Amino acid sequence: MSATTARLRVRPDIEVVGDSADQVHLCLVNHTATFVSPAVTRVVRALVEVLRTPTERDDAVRVVSGSTGAEPDFVSYVLDLLDRAQCLYPVSASSGQENREPLGDFWAAQGNDPTASAAELAARRVVLLVPAAFRAGMAELFDVSGLYATLVAPAPGDPLGPAVEAVRAGAAEGAFALCVWGFPYRSRVAREVMEVALASRRPVLFGVCEGLVGRVGPLVVPHATACLMCVNARLLSTSGSAEVIAQAARDLGPAGIPEPRVSHPAFERAVSGFFVVELTQFLRNEPPASIGGFVEYVFGRGEADRRPVQRAPHCVCCRPALPSRFGWDATFRGPVLATETP
Ligand SMILES: [Zn+2]
Repeated sequence: MSATTARLRVRPDIEVVGDSADQVHLCLVNHTATFVSPAVTRVVRALVEVLRTPTERDDAVRVVSGSTGAEPDFVSYVLDLLDRAQCLYPVSASSGQENREPLGDFWAAQGNDPTASAAELAARRVVLLVPAAFRAGMAELFDVSGLYATLVAPAPGDPLGPAVEAVRAGAAEGAFALCVWGFPYRSRVAREVMEVALASRRPVLFGVCEGLVGRVGPLVVPHATACLMCVNARLLSTSGSAEVIAQAARDLGPAGIPEPRVSHPAFERAVSGFFVVELTQFLRNEPPASIGGFVEYVFGRGEADRRPVQRAPHCVCCRPALPSRFGWDATFRGPVLATETP
């Protein structure tokens, strides 16, 4: 934060509590800052009122010094206290923050400049592959979250090729990341997008709701973290052989866009919201929960589990082909001598 040039403003969630001259509480959504002594509380109250509109630091000090009679150096000191107590946020000169809106208020309540946060997300356009049935819901979530995506939304029964090509084209045009919502992890479309991500070295976030289970992740960093096929291999390793055979048959079956899996509509909407939150974390360089694993939600359970996933040793997707080698039980017989021949 530039304390001398940027305009400052009190965070949008601030609530001034207490009318005592000795003590004033500034309650914010996730913490409370308390200031004591009449000399300080008087200046704090005056600064909060002035900084409800974006104001340059020097102007705020001058106005409050004039209205309270306090020395400018003392007002400046109290303003620093407010800043260190995380009560303020910077406002860009070009910001339209005089007109507040929910997402900008959220960034401001974390102490971020809303204009800079919006610009950061706008610069990181992603490609989103989503079934046609979920297109509208996902577009709305992206809109309220300030995310920008090239949407690829094929319908069930559509051929696989054009959808995967659209994702590949988006990656080639410089998409920051790829996202896949609503396709079963064992479907061919999910696998082919995984291969596009590995080839183009783009991170890819998967998420899906299937029946009673919703999953956000894995967020795959190509050739560094477990890929979707690693996840499938780990999940299949605990299932019966019939399911492994069924998966092999599915891999060889007709290539088309599958029907979305059945799920409770509100559950699907809730988990898709967590998917967008997870993507937001990643795009803002905040620690994502789904890197090297996935977060699992179970309908009606009211809590989530994070499940780490290691890379599978012989993953056909993300492990480079190794030279063939002899099996452990290889045997080498010596030459048979003529004298031993019966
Ligand atoms: Zn893998």
